[in-house]
Amino acid sequence: MGETVELPKRDLYIDGKWVPPYTGGRYPVVNPSTEQVIGSVPEGGAADINAAVTAASDAFFWNGGKEWSCAPSAVRAKFLRAIASKVRERKSELARLETLDCGKPIDEAEWDMDDVAGCFEYYANLAEELDKRQHVDVAISMDTFRSYVRKEPVGVVALITPWNYPMLMATWKVAPALAAGCTVILKPSENASVTSLELGAIAEAVGLPHGVLNIVTGRGDVAGAALTEHPKIDKLAFTGGAHTGQKVMRAVAKELRPVTLELGGKSAMIVFDDVDIDKTVEWAMFGAFWTNGQICSATSRLLLHESIAERFISRLVEWTKTIKIADPLSQGCRLGPVVNEAQYKKVMGYIDKAKEEGATLLCGGKRPAHLPQGYYVEPTVFADVEPHMQIWQEEVFGPVLSVKTFGTEDEAIRLANDSIYGLAAAVMSGDHDRCRRVSEALQVGIVWLNCSQPCFTEAPWGGRKRSGFGRELGEWGLENYLSVKQVTEYTSKEPWGWYPPPSKL
Ligand code: NAD
Repeated sequence: MGETVELPKRDLYIDGKWVPPYTGGRYPVVNPSTEQVIGSVPEGGAADINAAVTAASDAFFWNGGKEWSCAPSAVRAKFLRAIASKVRERKSELARLETLDCGKPIDEAEWDMDDVAGCFEYYANLAEELDKRQHVDVAISMDTFRSYVRKEPVGVVALITPWNYPMLMATWKVAPALAAGCTVILKPSENASVTSLELGAIAEAVGLPHGVLNIVTGRGDVAGAALTEHPKIDKLAFTGGAHTGQKVMRAVAKELRPVTLELGGKSAMIVFDDVDIDKTVEWAMFGAFWTNGQICSATSRLLLHESIAERFISRLVEWTKTIKIADPLSQGCRLGPVVNEAQYKKVMGYIDKAKEEGATLLCGGKRPAHLPQGYYVEPTVFADVEPHMQIWQEEVFGPVLSVKTFGTEDEAIRLANDSIYGLAAAVMSGDHDRCRRVSEALQVGIVWLNCSQPCFTEAPWGGRKRSGFGRELGEWGLENYLSVKQVTEYTSKEPWGWYPPPSKL
């Protein structure tokens, strides 16, 4: 604790060069576990966004697209693999930077870096296959025509990302966008931008063509807003809160640009009476407290069958109290601080309101006694939570779990679906038929059976309702950045024959 660490001092990464922001401004980076300023990040604005969009647009069309957008996809795959290998080479350092910037336990940050490298490798593989998937014939109803499909990069894409998985969320967008042949402007969250800028350093190190990846850090309402309003953007992909998602969608609507939105959630875990209590308690904890509870898909609403509720809750509280809360850089830390002071106050506000509304605080709800500094919140469990309470309805984005009981399967499904969000849900039961039945009835984009939170690069990720639309990861992630072109050829030797030739009139 209290260790002074200097972060790399980076400028904006635009057109393959490091450039200071037009206004010269920088904002401080605060280590959430010490509350100390440990570095600074450039504060980009509209002029920098404009320079980045221009660079991306030039790179897209440079040399008729031969260098990047229309190059054989194997060329792009080579760069993606090189990026993956640089990430692996720098894994420990990048993980450390991530932890210093956003407070996630170092073991999780290292896991994230493996996922970042894995994601670049995965999209390198998909990129390699892309050329083989070109010119695929479409079965049509007339044999005098041939129709085939080309998949082409959408163009210049704007990527706006959140702070809870800073480098990984950037990668989920950057890797497929580059694989598709798009050129990119990445605007990471001002709450944690350090590792996204390192992505620029990696792009530079592997010789990615200039302008293909541009990174502009800055405030959401300044740099982010300028990006969403820029007329040369062909598509926008956004991950963040629902309220910001609305603003972003409104802004891109002015230019009628496509948008994909990955937004927040308030996911439920339904626990039936036939589970192994210990195994399920651990998944319930992981679903709520992993990433310090700052995860869009957190299963923060726990629905317990009434016949096991007492035993389950007692084990849950006993175990939760043993979670190691510590400096996130320390070995074995399982819960670090939330990202910053504003988030700390927000989470504490939710806890106060839950108490005020009559929920029963079973554990946590305060700063840990042994950590007088840093934005730490003890893992918190509330029981007797009712559906009208704020803590049941709104995304806390902190280590807070709300518990409610149910009597029947139908009631559990109704309670789980009674949310404005529809990102994920978990069903815990030894009965496979029930698992399947309930998974089909849940109005969400992701269902976990007998687990919570596992996420695989190959599988689709995204939500319904106010959790957004569009899917990231897997082949769906690549399709986000591809435009489908129909090419239809008249193959008959005969004239078309609709208008009789003048000589026959
Ligand atoms: P946020 O909405 O505050 O910010 C997200 C990004 O939008 C940031 O880069 C921010 O600078 C930018 N931004 C803010 N205002 C903007 C504007 N007017 N125009 C353009 N850009 C703007 O969200 P956050 O606090 O960074 O992240 C937390 C949220 O993200 C939570 O709701 C969480 O559930 C969600 N999230 C969703 C997923 C998912 O996959 N569905 C993943 C991670 C996080």
